[in-house]
Amino acid sequence: MNNEEPDKKEEFRDHLATVTEKGERIWVYPKKPKGKFYRLRTIVATILLAILFLVPFIKVHGHPLMLLDILGRKFILFGVSFGPHDFHLFVLAIIGGIISIFLFTVVYGRIFCGWLCPQTIFMEMLFRKVEYLIEGDANKQKALDKRPWDGEKIFKKGLKHIIFAIMAFAIANALLAWVIGVDGLKELVSKPISEVTGKFIAMVVFSGVIYIFYAYLREQVCTLICPYGRLQGVMLDPTSIVIHYDYKRGEPRGKIKKGQEQNLGDCIDCHQCVDVCPTGIDIRNGTQLECVNCTACIDACDDVMTKIKRPTGLIRYASKNEIETGVRKIFTPKAIAYTVFLSLLFALIVFLLSTRSDYELSIVRTAGIMAIEQPGDSTKISNLYDVNIINKTFDRVEPTLEVENIKNAQVKLVSGSLTLEPESVAEAQIFVIVPKDEIKQLNTPIEIAVKANGKVIDVIKTSFLGKVRGKAGLK
Ligand code: SF4
Ligand code: SF4
Repeated sequence: MNNEEPDKKEEFRDHLATVTEKGERIWVYPKKPKGKFYRLRTIVATILLAILFLVPFIKVHGHPLMLLDILGRKFILFGVSFGPHDFHLFVLAIIGGIISIFLFTVVYGRIFCGWLCPQTIFMEMLFRKVEYLIEGDANKQKALDKRPWDGEKIFKKGLKHIIFAIMAFAIANALLAWVIGVDGLKELVSKPISEVTGKFIAMVVFSGVIYIFYAYLREQVCTLICPYGRLQGVMLDPTSIVIHYDYKRGEPRGKIKKGQEQNLGDCIDCHQCVDVCPTGIDIRNGTQLECVNCTACIDACDDVMTKIKRPTGLIRYASKNEIETGVRKIFTPKAIAYTVFLSLLFALIVFLLSTRSDYELSIVRTAGIMAIEQPGDSTKISNLYDVNIINKTFDRVEPTLEVENIKNAQVKLVSGSLTLEPESVAEAQIFVIVPKDEIKQLNTPIEIAVKANGKVIDVIKTSFLGKVRGKAGLK
């Protein structure tokens, strides 16, 4: 990959930056980042964390604004309930999501990892900040780890891990609230464990996994476990916008020696970009799978460039092609085409979600049943129909059925019920009874209007069979 720096050794690709030759882990002590990108990421992370912790508490007409009950197959998005009957929408959303991830990554690299991924946000914006607060910056953390277990070390480590455990518990409960709702969470807190065993186990497992992720695994989740990270190698191409070191401008690197004539590039080999890296890599080696595009090295290098009065952007968002040609072109035709396609896909999903009806109806003539002459009234014949209505709303509804296109037609409930409880299905059988005079052919198209609360919610087109069992029902 590092063809752009032919004189540099490629040996860094033979091993992970955080693992020794013996296979032991090298603990990463990244320096506390600061700078323009870090401030922006903090703002984005604060908004996302607020959404995570507050949204489950928001209710609309007594129902959660958002609920992702995967096991119960019940989803509420922006106050609208989705269930198994919306399977096609979920399939479309999942296909759209997978395509989006691929296309987005081809164009914008791992922007998701650096700015939106929960792993990065929890690690860098919550757990790492607590660590800096208690143990200090990288050098102080290293020194603390090296010193014997005296009172100060026990206090600092103990305090840190207690706070980590509390944070893991809080995050686990917030995630659980998205799945079981705040009411489910209240049940978990108020009822005996024996009555909420499943939820209790989920809470303990979530908390434990989150604690282990951020107290111990950390960058290894990104570099060894996350499948999205592993896929980068096949998704990125020379036009992908990732965090790049401008080797053309930076090389040959070397420290500034005062009063000496030096024929060097802009990189003063200060190692600041490496020291802040949470995955322990040197971005100057080129694009690497371990890079989560967190921008910490951009901030660190910009700070150095500002101090030595050279232009910032030695490390920046850029494509490999841009670095090689020196032509700054972020929005290539491919990037624009993919972005337009992604926007259209997103618009289609939003359109389908927003135009989704509150009810799903089917009225079909019962198979194998012919027209029946009405007992005691030979001027009328009837057909039997199976009715199935799905109520996707949170309201109880009593729908009425009316035949629209045949004069003096009646609808009579034969079995079942048409009453729709919230988020339920009603199944019934009805007779459509019509005067024989109105039936002029064997198969007459009919339109049945279904009304709820005085409004027509749908008009179902079906057919009315005019042939009476055993004799002709037609005139
Ligand atoms: S921070 Fe910038 S100047 Fe310092 S080593 Fe990294 S790339 Fe070179
Ligand atoms: S190389 Fe830079 S952007 Fe990539 S993970 Fe390290 S600090 Fe973050």
